[in-house]
Amino acid sequence: MNIHEYQGKSILKKYGVAVQEGIVADSAEAAVVAAETLQKETGTGWWVVKAQIHAGGRGKGKIVGTEQRGVALAKNLDAVKEIAGNILGGTLVTIQTGEKGKLVSKVLVAQDVYYPGASDTKEFYMSILLDRKVGQNVIIYSTEGGMDIEDVAHKTPELIHKEHIDPAVGLQGFQARKIAFNLGLSGEANKQMVKFVTNLYGAYVGTDSGMFEINPVLKTSDDKIIAVDAKVNLDDNGLFRHPDYAEMRDVTEEDPTEVEAAEHNLNYVKLDGNVGCMVNGAGLAMATMDIIKLSGGEPANFLDVGGTANAKTVEAGFRIILKDPNVKAILINIFGGIVRCDRVAQGVVDAYKNIGNVPVPIIVRLQGTNAIEAKKLIDESGLEVFSAITLQEAADLVTKVLA
Ligand code: GDP
Ligand code: MN
Repeated sequence: MNIHEYQGKSILKKYGVAVQEGIVADSAEAAVVAAETLQKETGTGWWVVKAQIHAGGRGKGKIVGTEQRGVALAKNLDAVKEIAGNILGGTLVTIQTGEKGKLVSKVLVAQDVYYPGASDTKEFYMSILLDRKVGQNVIIYSTEGGMDIEDVAHKTPELIHKEHIDPAVGLQGFQARKIAFNLGLSGEANKQMVKFVTNLYGAYVGTDSGMFEINPVLKTSDDKIIAVDAKVNLDDNGLFRHPDYAEMRDVTEEDPTEVEAAEHNLNYVKLDGNVGCMVNGAGLAMATMDIIKLSGGEPANFLDVGGTANAKTVEAGFRIILKDPNVKAILINIFGGIVRCDRVAQGVVDAYKNIGNVPVPIIVRLQGTNAIEAKKLIDESGLEVFSAITLQEAADLVTKVLA
């Protein structure tokens, strides 16, 4: 689950990671109030107004139809109001959103931490994620933080450092000190960086996160080390341990069909192809997507109905797949082990009749317990449903209905 910058920063603060302070607002007026409050609390005289969307690159992105950037400096309250007004309700396009962009419904009004006139601030890059190849967490960091980190990774990869952390022993003191040293810091800034890295790693582990990306990590002119940005991905599989994070979910940022699928306990990922598929078991789903490709189609989705392929789940799956206008055919591929094929077949027939008007041909491949009875049920249903028992038959049927 991805969360917004302001939510990520609130988590970081709980773990003792210093952040650029800010207050979230959903109207231009609320943004001004937020700015005034921040002024009282932090003494800041300038502010940055930051669009809250689940995508980076906001500083370089623009609100559609305007020259307004997704992150902008405001030097007085009128500017806060104007910028917030420009951003809120607008669609922000960045390199990470695709050309459709994302609707902005919240801004974070933050203290300006680059301090007017300060010349000795420094932007670093730091992220933490799981290195699956090594089987350890890794802290990736660089002296060249800021908005051009992708260029740095491309052109000067030697400036990107990695520190692997053994999960059994956690981040060691010498590792935190090595990172601070490699970032060229000495004195108070070095000490603050050691603390920053240590607490950041604690936050990553404590929240069961999948990824933290802090870019930039800022050394302020008075040698504080703070998180100016926070891109946080919480591991869905760990969410049950953190019921309080549930309210951080922003479903408007997620694919609506994926949200609906999750409500039905279906494992659904939308793809760009033309053949919808519904399968029990992730491995079979991968194999089914391969068959679709081999038969000249492209999978429109990944959909694993899990162990419970009954009439209800089949119907929910149907409805979700049919929401995608690109779908020209649906392939249902169920292996009947514990679940009997004839019951699934009856489920398919019932779901088909319930939906009423299924606009695309359906191919059903049922193999396993009672497969023959299942095929008979489908064939005698009088519906536009084609049955198959082997994978090859299913593939041939897909080719046929797409032709
Ligand atoms: P991103 O573009 O989506 O990654 O958004 P960031 O939160 O990283 O902000 C983009 C850029 O805005 C940063 O790289 C900074 O250069 C700049 N920025 C962020 N906060 C401040 C601030 O307090 N003052 C000033 N002057 N610039 C800031
Ligand atoms: Mn950033």
